[in-house]
Amino acid sequence: MNLIEVNKNYNTQAKCLKLLTEIRFGKNVRCTFCGSTSIKSIRNEQGRYSCKNCKKSFSVIVGTIFEDTRLSLPKWFQIITLMLNAKSSVSAKEIQRNLGISYKTAYYACMRIRVGMLMPETKLNGIIEMDESYFGGKARSQHNIADNDVSLATASPKRGRGTNKVSVVGMVQRKGNVKTKLIDKLTKRNLLFMLKSNAKSDNSILMTDGFKSYKELETYIDRLVINHSKEYSKGIVHINTIEGFWSYVKNGIKGSFKSVSKKYLPLYLVEFEWKFNHRNFKGNELEKFLKNALFQEKELEHWKAQSPKQIKEIAYGSD
Ligand SMILES: [Zn+2]
Repeated sequence: MNLIEVNKNYNTQAKCLKLLTEIRFGKNVRCTFCGSTSIKSIRNEQGRYSCKNCKKSFSVIVGTIFEDTRLSLPKWFQIITLMLNAKSSVSAKEIQRNLGISYKTAYYACMRIRVGMLMPETKLNGIIEMDESYFGGKARSQHNIADNDVSLATASPKRGRGTNKVSVVGMVQRKGNVKTKLIDKLTKRNLLFMLKSNAKSDNSILMTDGFKSYKELETYIDRLVINHSKEYSKGIVHINTIEGFWSYVKNGIKGSFKSVSKKYLPLYLVEFEWKFNHRNFKGNELEKFLKNALFQEKELEHWKAQSPKQIKEIAYGSD
């Protein structure tokens, strides 16, 4: 759905609430606190209900990314649409300019929308590629853009040790989804934990390069190794899909944000994962997103108390 269609179909709070209610509750509105269906609609613009069982009042946005903000739902829908339709991403600055809202509000909404893009339930299987990549770090020469590209786009020969880069491990199922995780120490234990939390071992096969910490993963899953000092692919044995994802993320970060902090990188990665995982999706992406986002309550309970890294770990498993 493009911005014009969204502005036409969801230009009032009531229209947005109606869609959210259909997606979250279907035909039976349930109390968001006690789950009771014995509820009464309160006639006002905010679509509130009161629960006859627990006596609390609630609306469809309780416990969702839309809760506790002054931003109207039509504006939320516009921001979501801008983010979903951007080829890689869109900065809060651009949203501020396009929609005439404050930078702070735009930034906050974008971060929450990224939380709504978490996809905790998906487990990878089949042919899975795993690889790590390094983000950030200083260019050798500030005047030399080519050097800067290298530091962002290729793995450091030191494999992150002794550098100030952030290491991110990614796993992708061929023709399927991708998952990433910030891992400070690329130990066998941490890599094995990430694999077990995010992939099924039955009927699956893992492809990695020759980095020695990946060897341990064979205790869980069959593995084939591509030796990059010799060749980049050997028949089906390669990690080109995950390497393609790394380029997509790095170009996207450079194009839209220039840089992102280590603290918030996990949430930006969620957005790139969502984009990648829906690269072939043809339906209504706004609804697809809302169907996912409205059920991220568990993560959102921790929204205020947890760091972005923790939010992602709550969703994808932590070690
Ligand atoms: Zn109740």
